[in-house]
Amino acid sequence: MKPADFDYTVPRTVPEALDVLADTGRDVRVLAGGQSLILEMHLQRIRPDLVVDINRITELDHLTTDGGQVEVGALVRHGRFESPHVVLGPLGRLFSLAVVNIAHPPIRARGTMVGSLAWGHPASEWCAIATALDAGIRLQGPDGAREVAARDWFLGPLRTARRPGELITSIRFPLLGEDTGVGFIEHRRTHFCFAQVAVAATLTVRDGVIEEARVALVNCADRPVRAHAAEQALTGAEAGSPRSGNRLPDGHPFVRAGRIAAEQDAAPLAEPYADPEYRRQAIAVLVGRTLRQASEGVAT
Ligand SMILES: Cc1cc2nc3c(=O)[nH]c(=O)nc-3n(C[C@H](O)[C@H](O)[C@H](O)COP(=O)(O)OP(=O)(O)OC[C@H]3O[C@@H](n4cnc5c(N)ncnc54)[C@H](O)[C@@H]3O)c2cc1C
Repeated sequence: MKPADFDYTVPRTVPEALDVLADTGRDVRVLAGGQSLILEMHLQRIRPDLVVDINRITELDHLTTDGGQVEVGALVRHGRFESPHVVLGPLGRLFSLAVVNIAHPPIRARGTMVGSLAWGHPASEWCAIATALDAGIRLQGPDGAREVAARDWFLGPLRTARRPGELITSIRFPLLGEDTGVGFIEHRRTHFCFAQVAVAATLTVRDGVIEEARVALVNCADRPVRAHAAEQALTGAEAGSPRSGNRLPDGHPFVRAGRIAAEQDAAPLAEPYADPEYRRQAIAVLVGRTLRQASEGVAT
């Protein structure tokens, strides 16, 4: 199919973009990488009256570090994060572990991290990482600028707290210290499919004891999920010695956390190739493996 007719405009500055986005009488859509929007327009599931192409607003193409935070502008493409060195420390490693799971190189060359947060797909890797780290989504709109914490951002599948007329300008993540290990593991049917289940985790370990654990689940509910029950079970537990042996014993805190995440934190829906029971089993296994990966990366 071809898209329905639409008007198209290319602002050069954020205020120009906000002017056109303020036209609330029409269905006005921001175009960033176009890797979700254009597909939906071709399928005519979205039929915008006006498309606002933000790709010429150079001020949105920034990736900066300041005061312990990394700010990712709305035009920073997925592919930028394939190198673990683009962002300092463990956060850069976490981004690089996750990004290779997003589609394939041409899509990663155009699609943007902010576009993923704006789209709010429950199977999005970036949405889960933003949830794990409680990133801040920064917006400008008719009522000025505001920042929304990731925990308040996702309202359901493809539904976010963005208000009409607002442009997301950037996302802010806290940098992670070298005492924090990171993990990201994904399970999907074929290489280019969206995740059936994936897990993002960070572990901060002091003297062999887990001081803080952050775990987020991809595609395990109608939105990204922070696995609070699993995190609580991990806090204060001994990280153990994950390098000994191939399989963690049943009573290991990571294995236990996997079971808790699957039973208490996740609310998996049925999909054509994965019923909720299968997905709960996958969650339990993947949470354990991802925590193990994170513990192996902690600087000791
Ligand atoms: C074959 C295929 C496989 C894919 N696999 C994956 C995958 O495994 N994981 C994954 O996460 N994604 C996947 N994607 C989606 C891809 O990551 C998209 O890039 C991403 O979802 C949206 O980013 P974008 O920059 O392309 O946004 P666009 O497509 O331009 O926009 C998406 C939506 O967000 C809005 N929007 C975008 N930017 C802003 C902004 N700054 N302010 C306000 N609204 C905005 C748009 O109006 C639109 O409604 C896949 C896509 C395809 C085609």
